[in-house]
Amino acid sequence: MSASARTELLAGWGRMPASAARVLRPRSVPELEDLLAHRDGSLPMIARGLGRSYGDAAQCAGGLALDCTGLNKVLELDLTTPQVRAEAGISLDELLRVLVPKGLFPPITPGTRFVTLGGAIASDIHGKNHHLDGTIARHLDHLRIATSGGPVECGLGQRSEVFSATCGGMGLTGIVTEAVLRLLRIETSSMLVDTERAADIDACMARLSEDEGRYRYSVAWVDGFSGGRHLGRSVITRANHAVLADLPAKARRDPLGLELRKPLRVPAAPPISLLGPVTVAAFNELWYRRAPRHRAGELVPLAHFFYPLDGLAGWNLLYGPRGFTQYQFVVPLGEEATVRTVLERLSRARTASFLAVLKRFGAEGSGHLSFPRMGWTLALDVPLGAGGTAVLLDGLDELVVSAGGRVYLSKDGRLRPEMMAAMYPRLADWLEVRARLDPEGILSSDLARRLGLDGARRLAVAKVEA
Ligand SMILES: Cc1cc2nc3c(=O)[nH]c(=O)nc-3n(C[C@H](O)[C@H](O)[C@H](O)COP(=O)(O)OP(=O)(O)OC[C@H]3O[C@@H](n4cnc5c(N)ncnc54)[C@H](O)[C@@H]3O)c2cc1C
Repeated sequence: MSASARTELLAGWGRMPASAARVLRPRSVPELEDLLAHRDGSLPMIARGLGRSYGDAAQCAGGLALDCTGLNKVLELDLTTPQVRAEAGISLDELLRVLVPKGLFPPITPGTRFVTLGGAIASDIHGKNHHLDGTIARHLDHLRIATSGGPVECGLGQRSEVFSATCGGMGLTGIVTEAVLRLLRIETSSMLVDTERAADIDACMARLSEDEGRYRYSVAWVDGFSGGRHLGRSVITRANHAVLADLPAKARRDPLGLELRKPLRVPAAPPISLLGPVTVAAFNELWYRRAPRHRAGELVPLAHFFYPLDGLAGWNLLYGPRGFTQYQFVVPLGEEATVRTVLERLSRARTASFLAVLKRFGAEGSGHLSFPRMGWTLALDVPLGAGGTAVLLDGLDELVVSAGGRVYLSKDGRLRPEMMAAMYPRLADWLEVRARLDPEGILSSDLARRLGLDGARRLAVAKVEA
């Protein structure tokens, strides 16, 4: 093994659970491919991007974490198609700086620009436009992945089962080294945003179901803390990319200027959580009251619309040393009562969730372990360590499963393995492809071990359950 490997304590964005692994940062794709093909001994390994998954997906206790952020080159930018071929360790932040000034935008973007392309593919990420544009897999033409048997090329038209197992496959089918991503053309770097308040969760879901096709992006920020008649009161924001004609004359001189301000930084990790019930309740109240009842056509820089949380670097530290998880689930349309029940249980337990995010998903994609399916998704931060949290969340899992839903693996650090096959009905297909691509089980992670995704044993169980 290269001398530059060092042992580090790794955690996801929720800071729990943490584990120690040796971290290696390959400097080139051939070096990474070589590492997998001629691995040293039997150390298990997993790819790591920018560590923005909330739980234990990019950790490998006692093994090797391959930090892919050194593989960050744009290899080819085709302005006519338009599409970009890039190394998978490139961050969305780096991509935006290249693309936006040229009038291009990633077709799917999460709520932070500090994720890598490889991490986005492994999670098969969705954005506020899922109802129209699906997940990132729908916009990928081609992937190159490193496996223990050598590099493999795949796409929807080429080895499509490998492609479908890899998009959403949590890094367990191979390490993505290169990807070709189709891009969206934009005329400006501004968004045209409509905002409105909804008095409770029912009103919010009703509004999100209306006019859906009029907006490329739509989301509701839900007060996960209020109960009673205010349960799920929300601020809905829906937007399209502004075109040149939407800008005032002065702004038309530089319509594609990209404003990515240096974020403020949480100076140090506080010894206790600063986000207790009192702080969060006060914040949520203020935030709801300050939002306009209805405002149309506001011009907003795209970074403010897509990445509001990136304005405060290290905000995850505010939850204190015990960390937090993000509980994100999806249930089918028609299961609105389940969304309401989850909110009721969480607000009754007074778990201090900052704003929750509610979204209506469109059609399911091709990824075997892809999270989105047609329905409602709700994401809430839940601080860990408080008595009863584990039992509360286990109960929510059961509720979600009985409604035909699932939780998002990229946000998870606590799900029980027996939930996997019920939540992910294509698990057996995925395990078969994984067993072919990684027969010795070299690729592994704390998440894989916790959920039984790393062995032949699980394949047998999933086959019996199917
Ligand atoms: C503030 C915030 C907002 C978010 N908003 C959204 C959202 O709107 N929609 C959404 O879908 N997600 C969202 N996420 C989750 C995030 O998009 C995913 O967790 C993403 O995978 C993080 O990318 P990363 O580079 O940090 O990967 P890491 O967290 O480092 O790794 C995540 C997974 O990707 C694998 N991986 C990393 N690189 C590679 C590679 N090159 N090849 C193969 N596997 C690899 C890892 O093994 C691991 O399983 C959000 C996260 C945060 C913190």
